[in-house]
Amino acid sequence: MRIDIITVLPELIESPLSHSILKRAQDKGLITVEVHNLREFSTNKYRQIDDYTFGGGAGMVMMIEPIAKCIDSLKAERDYDEVIYMSPDGERFEQSIANELALKGGNLIILCGHYKGVDERVREHYITREISIGDYVLSGGELGAAVVTDAVARLIPGVLGDETSALTDSFQDGLVAPPVYTRPKEYNGWEVPKVLLSGDHSKIEAWRFEQSVKRTQERRPELLKDADSKN
Ligand code: SAH
Repeated sequence: MRIDIITVLPELIESPLSHSILKRAQDKGLITVEVHNLREFSTNKYRQIDDYTFGGGAGMVMMIEPIAKCIDSLKAERDYDEVIYMSPDGERFEQSIANELALKGGNLIILCGHYKGVDERVREHYITREISIGDYVLSGGELGAAVVTDAVARLIPGVLGDETSALTDSFQDGLVAPPVYTRPKEYNGWEVPKVLLSGDHSKIEAWRFEQSVKRTQERRPELLKDADSKN
């Protein structure tokens, strides 16, 4: 799988990509993530990529030309499954979208906006999918692009050390994850649930499932309703 991220602030996205699971996934060759500095595609000697809003009003708008040149140059190299624009009015990012993108395993472009966003013609003519990471406004798309890349990369087979680990995470089966414990068995008189120390795997599985359902009922009851309405 390959993800090309287009940004005016490469530094902002490089750090989250160069540690831990994302780094390992790239080192193992399971995913390639390339960051492209949009300023390099500016035709202007000041490397300008934004300009005033037509019609007036506060805030700058990212120009179509450098973005078009950057996307065209990438498309000339290979085919892309989606050209994604990070945008607060896009479809809300969920685990199901991460699964879908990881399963396809193809090539993605992620465009990060800044300022007031991008010239609408970019969205009309280049973007195939718009993703929001939640109902709040960030100053740029980079953190969102890092969120999407991380959530997708860890689902690619072979990225997580323990193959089954992603499957037992929250949302993967429509439930949130059960509580987890590690050593010591007792701290300050606070004990680990006995069943987890029993060595009885079927009992442990049953307990975990029960806890997942209980937690989901308490914290995210709408997930259970969604699952019911799908059945
Ligand atoms: N004027 C725009 C916000 C621009 S914020 C509006 O009101 O909708 C600048 C950039 O940050 C956006 O172009 C987008 O790429 C990114 N961004 C901001 N909030 C985001 C969110 N919730 N999800 C994904 N990207 C976001």
